[in-house]
Amino acid sequence: MSRADVLCTRLAEVKRRMVAACERAGRAPESVRLVAISKFHPASDIAALAACGQRDFGESYVQEALAKQDALVGEDILWHFVGGLQTKKAKNVVDRFCLAHSVDSEKLARELARRAIDARILLPVLIEVNLGEEEQKAGVDEADLNELAEVVVSLNKRGCGLDLRGLMCLPPMFDAPEEARPYFAHLRELRDELSAHLGIPLPELSMGMTGDFEAAIEEGATLIRVGTSIFGSRPPKG
Ligand SMILES: *Cc1c(COP(=O)(O)O)cnc(C)c1O
Repeated sequence: MSRADVLCTRLAEVKRRMVAACERAGRAPESVRLVAISKFHPASDIAALAACGQRDFGESYVQEALAKQDALVGEDILWHFVGGLQTKKAKNVVDRFCLAHSVDSEKLARELARRAIDARILLPVLIEVNLGEEEQKAGVDEADLNELAEVVVSLNKRGCGLDLRGLMCLPPMFDAPEEARPYFAHLRELRDELSAHLGIPLPELSMGMTGDFEAAIEEGATLIRVGTSIFGSRPPKG
C-alpha cells in the first residue's frame, strides 16, 4: 500500500470508531469534528489526507505550521493551533488559524486580541485548563478560569478581537482511557458552569487524543485531536 492509502485507511478507521462512540453516547456523528494532529509529519501526508476528505488539521509549533501552510496553499484545509503559544509569536497566529485551542494566560489573550484587532479579524479561541494541577503543564488553573474567561470575553470589541468558543484540556497521560474519563467529564462541568456564569454559549470542548478519544466523545467532546492513530508514531523533531 502507498503511504497515501495507509493514511486514508487509518483515517477511515478512526472515523468508524468516532461514529461508534457517538452511537453509544446517543450523539449525532456530525457533533464531533476530528482534528488530525500533523506535528512532525510532512506536508505531503497532510495533502494525502486532504485528498481523502480530511479538512481539519492541528499543529503545535508556529514555524512548522506556517511552513506547511505555505506548502499547501490552495488546499481546502482548516488549521488549528493546539500547542503552547508564546506571546511574542501571537502576531504569526492570528490570521493563519481558524481556532487557537491553547489560550492560558491574560497576557497571551491580550496580545492575541491586540493583533487580531490590528488585522480587523475575530479569532475563535478556547481556554486550555490544567486539570491535573501539574506544575509543568500548560493551561490555566481551575481556580483562575473564571477570571481569565472574563478577560477573554472583554476582548471581543465590535466584532474584532477574540471569540471565546469553549475549553480544551490535555489530561495527565494514562495507559487506560477510563482513567482519563473523569477529567473529560470534569471539563464538561467546568464548561457548563462557565457558560452559565458568563451568560453565553460555549459550544466547544476540545478533548481526547489517540489513547482516549472514544471516552472523550462519550463525555461530550466536540473536537478530538488525534495524531498517532492516523499518522503513526511521530519522528523525532527536527
Ligand atoms: C500531539 C498532540 C495531540 C495528538 O496526540 P496523539 O496521542 O498522537 O493522538 C493532541 N493534542 C495535543 C495538544 C498535542 O500536542
